[in-house]
Formats: sequence, structure tokens, C-alpha cells
Amino acid sequence: MQQSLLDTPIEFLKGVGPERAKLLKSELNISSFRDLISYYPFRYVDRTIFLKIRDINPDLPFVQVIGKIRNVAVAGAVQNKRLTAEFYDGTGTLELVWFKGIKWVKPLLDEKADFVIFGKPAVFRGKFSIAHPEINLLQPADMEGEGDGRKVSASLQPVYSTSEKLSSKGLNSKGIQKLLSTLFSKINGRVEENLSEAILRNWKMAGRNEALLHIHFPENPAQLKRAQSRLKFEELFFIQLELLRIKFSREKNSSAYVFSSVGENVNRFYREILPFPLTEAQKKVIKEIRRDLGSGKQMNRLLQGDVGSGKTIVALMAILIAIDNNFQSCLMAPTEILANQHFAGLSKLVEKLGIKIALLTGSVKAKERKLIHRQLLDGELQILVGTHALIEEGVRFKNLGLAVIDEQHRFGVEQRAKLHKKKSAEGNQREEEKPSPHILVMTATPIPRTLAMTLYGDLDVSVIDELPPGRKPIKTLHFNDSARLRVFGMMKQEIAKGHQVYVVYPLIYESEKLDYKFLMEGLEAIERSFPKPEYQVSVVHGQMLPQNRDFEMARFLRKETQILVSTTVIEVGVDVPNASVMVIENAERFGLSQLHQLRGRVGRGAEQSYCLLMTGEKLGRDGMLRMQTMVQTNDGFKIAETDLQLRGAGDLMGTQQSGEINLRIANLATDGQILLAARKTVEELLEKDSELKEAENLPIVLHLNLILKGKQNWSRIS
Ligand code: ADP
Ligand code: MG
Repeated sequence: MQQSLLDTPIEFLKGVGPERAKLLKSELNISSFRDLISYYPFRYVDRTIFLKIRDINPDLPFVQVIGKIRNVAVAGAVQNKRLTAEFYDGTGTLELVWFKGIKWVKPLLDEKADFVIFGKPAVFRGKFSIAHPEINLLQPADMEGEGDGRKVSASLQPVYSTSEKLSSKGLNSKGIQKLLSTLFSKINGRVEENLSEAILRNWKMAGRNEALLHIHFPENPAQLKRAQSRLKFEELFFIQLELLRIKFSREKNSSAYVFSSVGENVNRFYREILPFPLTEAQKKVIKEIRRDLGSGKQMNRLLQGDVGSGKTIVALMAILIAIDNNFQSCLMAPTEILANQHFAGLSKLVEKLGIKIALLTGSVKAKERKLIHRQLLDGELQILVGTHALIEEGVRFKNLGLAVIDEQHRFGVEQRAKLHKKKSAEGNQREEEKPSPHILVMTATPIPRTLAMTLYGDLDVSVIDELPPGRKPIKTLHFNDSARLRVFGMMKQEIAKGHQVYVVYPLIYESEKLDYKFLMEGLEAIERSFPKPEYQVSVVHGQMLPQNRDFEMARFLRKETQILVSTTVIEVGVDVPNASVMVIENAERFGLSQLHQLRGRVGRGAEQSYCLLMTGEKLGRDGMLRMQTMVQTNDGFKIAETDLQLRGAGDLMGTQQSGEINLRIANLATDGQILLAARKTVEELLEKDSELKEAENLPIVLHLNLILKGKQNWSRIS
């Protein structure tokens, strides 16, 4: 009964109706009562304080002022059209500016009315201005209370993110709050609990009803905090529950291949081929992997190691163990360039051992592809390197024992699941009883612990926290565009020493055309300053045919060109030890992790390398912080932490796009403690009741089913 009430379409809430319902769905993805109740405020403001305009200073995060509007005007041509108005209160004036939603805002600006405006003040041309202020008619309620500190009724006012379109239909933040108020009086405390009594008791947590009410209508900060903790816990709890259930059931149900012996290939490789001594960190990780492979449980391990830390050799050792136990392996890379490079590198290393290795990518011709398919099935091929082409349906192995995925953050959970299903063709067990291959996932983007636990919570984690000896730390410098000639000078010096240079332009997802324009303009400048035939330049970008791209890459790899100008296609894994300079154009457009990844393309040889960050003159605070962080540290984990703090988990590694992490309330940068508590709670829960069959866990099961159902629907739509 309660459940079905919350599942009521939002259209039927008093004050919504079909038109607003449509907008709520398209703008905020709210289509039921349940969605609305879980649409949490993104911040709260203390609306007890009203300032006079003369007391405003630009350091204030927000100001709230009562006054009137005059001189409403629309200025600018089509593209930078803006609406301005003067706001005054008898102590001074402020400029209000809108760049968007002009046609909705303008009619609201009544010069006779009193308004309360709220927003972030800034100084523009020596005057205070507020862009896109929240603007409301002064209500009698705003004036409640006495003395000179005028009070609004609720001190902690929730703010909901909304859109211009919704606002124009009366659903600004206040409008949404009003809907919630209607909703709460309708459901009247009958929201189902989704945690068990035991968990609530153990953590002394607010019940769900209470928490939801107070997240939307907090009476005081303590109440709000209690509500937030509970809802954050709940959110993280269910993510961990999904992940750990996978992990538990895998460990319990699936049989695994046991690689018991370390044999001929491993030993010979170690003695005769390995070109350098392994670092302690590499040895430690290889040990962990060996233990997994012989344990009788299927390995699912994430290997984190900074760029250049030598993950490939570790993967190869694991592959050789598989081969020594008569199993096939595959190595999957996210791009064709990287797959090619892995194939070339590994081929060289295993050549002497007489191991058969092949490359399978989208551009492998049908005839060769057929041959590879056959050789995989009859077991002749021992290692298959490739892009995601190798997890396609038609690709069947005789006995795939180990799958390595390089640069995992480019692949989704789905692809990992596909690999699990790549089972041996041989043997006469039923398909579902056959063991899944062992899986080793590698990433060069160090991930803060909280994020790893959320993204890869079903995996065990190994870390290579040491670079091979003899590497000089890369020197990172930040330049304004005006210092371009100096940067060109540094490039010339390095090229004169026989080194090579990368120049990278950002990839702007919204507009490939714009990428291309940036790149081409930059290229012109470079070709002017680095004339042929003395200098040769390779160009690689996303709009080229793969074969042309590979051709240009190859020229750079063979040192026929000294400069490689590209968009971020070279980001992942490319290894050219002779390259000593990485110039990153429009560096402010990159996230920290990406900048760090790019920087990792140099510093692979023994020579001093440089990373030169180019930005415009004007940098925002975040941009400046990112540049400073890059200049100050080479430590990938530190950078990842800072990145998480700056951007929040949603944006990290494009996870938002892939929809893997979509947190409504918890924040992985600041809620580490709650995450640990949630994970521990789930572990204890599953240890006691792995199937969640006990009556007291029923609320948990019901909610989990809701979540899973939502996901299925989603996958059907997309
Ligand atoms: P990543 O972890 O970024 O994938 P790679 O595996 O590509 O790093 O290794 C980077 C470079 O370091 C390669 O040229 C590799 O041969 C070299 N390398 C790896 N391990 C060692 C080591 N223990 N000593 C010296 N060089 C090493
Ligand atoms: Mg690598």
C-alpha cells in the first residue's frame, strides 16, 4: 500500500498536472512521488540575514538583499545577449545580469514591486553585480520577527537545483519545496524503511521517514546533519550491497582454474629475457597475483600503478603463469594504438619462448580474423592482444584462463562482465558450471580509496607504488599563452638533443569541429616556427581514419618526426621513451587526472623530461589550483585525491557519463568514514545472511529489488 503510493506518477500530485509532470521528467528525471522525495536539496542557506547594499563585499559567498528594480535592459547581439537591471535599496546599487532564460525572467521584473534577491556578488567594471540571482517578490513572511535582524520563517532554507524552463512554470526552488510540502502531508509519515532494525540500532541512525522529512524541512542544523548522515549511509550501503553481493556470490559459487605450477616459461623469461630487475613493488604484486591464481578462487584483481610504474611486465608474468598451466590469455586495451603497442612489445618479449601471440582489433581483415578465430578455438594461439573486438560474440577460446584489461577506466563494468562469460569451449561441463577466467584489471589513474571502493568495490586491489629506478622526476612548468615563444625555444633545445615532443590539444566532447579548429590553428603556428625539412611534424586527431592515424603514430615511433601534435587520443599508455617534452595546450580544460596521465607520456627514459602547461591569461580558481598541483607534485595518488576534492566523484574519469556513479547525496571526497561504515555493515550482513533470507532483512531486499528494477528499465531504454 505504502509502496504503491510512492510509485504514483508525479502528474497526480496536487499542483503538478500533465504539463509540469512532463517537464519534471525531462528536466530533473522526476516521474513519481518516490523520485520527488529523493530529490534532495543541493545546499541550504541561512536566510536569517539580510544585508544592505553598502555592506556587500565580493568575498561573501552569498548575499540576500531587499530592494527595488529599475532600468531593465537587454543588451548585446544574438550570441552574447544579456538582460540587465539595476537593483537599489537606498544604500547603493547592484547590477543584476542574466545570460540565459531572458524571455522568462524579463516579465517578472516589475519596477514597482519589492524583491528579495539572493546570489553570489562579484565585481564587474568596478560595480557589484550578481549573475542569475534568485529573485522573489518580498512576502510578508520574510519580515517575520522583530528588531533590526529581520527573520524568515525557516532559518535553513533548502535550495533545489532546477532549470530555467521549470522556473518559468513556477517550479523554481521554492516551487519544488512547495510540491514536497504537499507530498509530505499526503504520505503522512508512511515511507517504508529500507534498512533493518539491527542496522538502525547499531548506528543509532535516524529512521527513513524522519530523515526524509528533515532533509527537506530541517528545523535546525543538528537535525539536518542527522538526516544527511542517514541518507548518505543508505546510499552508500546499497551501492556496497550490490558490489559485495557480486563478490560474495562469485567466491561462493564459481569454481576456478588452479594454476598450481610455475614452469618453464616463467623461469626462462625471468632468467634470460627480463631486461631489468623488477622493482620491489612489482615483485610484491606478482606474488599477490600468483597467490590468487593458485588459490582455487577466481581472481578479480585491480592493479593500480602510476604511469610508467611497469604494469605491463606484471601482466606478462601473470600471462606466462597461465601459459605454463596450459591456458590461454588475452590482453584488452581501450584503443587501437595501445593494443598495437602492447602487441609489438609483448611479441618481442615472448618471441624467444616460442609463444604464439596475435592481435585482434577492428581493423584486422576478415581473412586474418577467421584464422585467429580458428587458432583460438584449437588452442594454437596462447596470447590474444586486442581492443574490445576481442570480447565480441564470435571470439571463442579453447581455454581462456586469464584476461587482462589495461586502463580499465576506459571500460565499463559491462565489459568486465562479458569477459567473465568468455568461458572455455573445451570440456563437457555445462556452460554455467565452467569456471570464469581469472581477471586482472590495470589502471594508471590512481584512484583514491573511497572511489576505488565504489567503482571497483567487487575487486581486490594491488598497488605498485614505486617507479623503476633511475627515472628523473618530470619538471612541470606553467606558462601563459603569451610565453609561447619561450616554450617553442625549449622545444627546439630538446629536439636539438635528439629528443621528441608531444603537443596535445583538449578534446571537447560537445564539438569535434571546435577541437579540430584548435588543433589546426596550433598546428599552423608550430609549422611556421618549426619549418620543414629541418623539422617533421606528425598530426593525429579523432577525425582521421584509423589507418592514417596509425601511420602518423608510427612515423613518430620510428623517430621520423620530432613533434607529435594531437588531440587526447595518445592519452593512454603510449610509450615513446625518447620523448622528453609534453606540451599541453589549453591545459585548464583538462581535469587533474588527465593532466597527470598526459604528463606520464614523458619521463620514460633516463633523461630529464618536461611537462609544459599552457593556459590563457585568465584562470579561474579551480584552474589555478590544478596548475599549481601539477607543478608541485608528481605523485599520482596525491593528484587523484585533489582531483576528487575539486571535482567530486561524479566527474572523475568521466564516470558520470558512463553512469557508474551517480550519487545523490554522499560525497566520496568527504564521506569516507560513512563509506567505511556502510561497507563494514554490508560485509557483516552478508557474512551472516548471504542470501538475505532472514525476515529482519526484508526491508533491505525490497529496496534492493527496486534499485535493480530501475537499472533494468534504464538499460532497456538506452
Ligand atoms: P605502465 O605502468 O604505465 O603501463 P609500462 O609497463 O609501460 O608502464 O612500463 C614503462 C616503462 O618502464 C617500459 O619501458 C618498461 O619496459 C619499463 N620498466 C618496467 N619495469 C621496469 C623495471 N623494473 N626497471 C626498469 N624499467 C622498467
Ligand atoms: Mg601501461
